[in-house]
Amino acid sequence: MTFQNTLDFAQQLDLQDPLKTYRNEFIFPQHEGRDVIYFTGNSLGLQPKRTRKFVDEVMNDWAHLAVEGHFFAEKPWWDYHERFALPLSKIVGAKPSEVTVMNTLTINLHLLMVSFYRPTAKRFKIICEEKAFPSDQYMFQSQVHHHGFNPQEAIVEIKRREGEHNIRLEDILSKIEEVGDELALVLFGGVNYYTGQVFDMKTITEAGHRVGAYVGFDLAHAAGNIKLDLHDWNVDFAAWCSYKYMNSGPGNASGCFVHEKHHQSNLPRFAGWWGHNKERRFKMEPQFEPVQGAQGWQVSNLPILSLAPYLASIEIFDEVGMDALIEKRDIITSYLEFILKEIAQEVGSAFEIITPAIPTARACQLSVFLHGEGRSLFDYLMKNGVITDWREPNVIRLAPVPLYTSYEDMYRFGQILKAGILHRN
Ligand SMILES: *Cc1c(COP(=O)(O)O)cnc(C)c1O
Repeated sequence: MTFQNTLDFAQQLDLQDPLKTYRNEFIFPQHEGRDVIYFTGNSLGLQPKRTRKFVDEVMNDWAHLAVEGHFFAEKPWWDYHERFALPLSKIVGAKPSEVTVMNTLTINLHLLMVSFYRPTAKRFKIICEEKAFPSDQYMFQSQVHHHGFNPQEAIVEIKRREGEHNIRLEDILSKIEEVGDELALVLFGGVNYYTGQVFDMKTITEAGHRVGAYVGFDLAHAAGNIKLDLHDWNVDFAAWCSYKYMNSGPGNASGCFVHEKHHQSNLPRFAGWWGHNKERRFKMEPQFEPVQGAQGWQVSNLPILSLAPYLASIEIFDEVGMDALIEKRDIITSYLEFILKEIAQEVGSAFEIITPAIPTARACQLSVFLHGEGRSLFDYLMKNGVITDWREPNVIRLAPVPLYTSYEDMYRFGQILKAGILHRN
């Protein structure tokens, strides 16, 4: 498609957008009487209008039924989480028995590492990406410590090559080979939070398995953003948060995946009553007998008031489907890339997009180095109703979330960006 940097052209694209009605499903913060241009759905997704109804339902059931709500609520609480299995399995490419919702992301990764990071004197190393999300780094260090190993020795980071912004697949694969039978676990992001690079999870999983390691993924920036086929890729485990692309609200619950091949195994785990055989859960027996499936990793009974907004958002994903989302995502991201290049040319600035240019290695996010521009430009954007995210030294991250951003947003962003640069100079 040949793009144009005009309002007319952007509005034409919006008219033809099969997802255009979904913008109206979300609540936008207001700036001078109009919707902000929201580029931070990769950090905290907007609130869907239907969410309040889901929360109110739980509040009402609690008020009117109290403890009876566990079994007699509109959506009974004791198995409320089971409503997620089917729609979530479609989002992440799994069987319904392989997914569940529980806890929060870092907690789930810790719990899954209890099962899948079982270091021995010989096989104790973890491979991860350089500059992984800080929470993941702390998790790796503390897990390694917990098992009595030295993080310096046990954690192997795959680095970017000098002068490059992204990690090369060949470097990941050769490091996996090299660490070989010392490798216990590969735990990578699905999409790097800083650069937006999408990793080839299928190939990484195969490589890890070839040397006898388990392979898991932190899908914080991948779930609801990219096409996932966790089951077919043979991934051992994964977890994601729901408040980024999945719009479930601040700090909300996580989803997790455990491959079917591990359901019958005797993997050690930290158990709790919500992971116990569901038919016998209320018999209060002393002997733990896990549910066969991802639900067998659950510990506590679930925070229904958190799950309600998550369920509302999952309903939207189920209506739209990942294929339609991905189709718009690729067009609108390319349009944003085009606008950035046009504006850079018009004002003589050098923006450097550090997100990979090839469509298979990027998704919704463009991370842009604003060479020659400082934080004042970011502040100017925020003051003018463009919500972006600033990362040191001078990178802005822009996520044109396909569910609710418009092509007109991209055009208007370009105009504000241009004014911001000219204004400074
Ligand atoms: C956002 C994010 C997290 C956040 O973890 P929480 O436990 O939900 O606070 C973890 N990992 C990655 C890669 C993230 O992007």
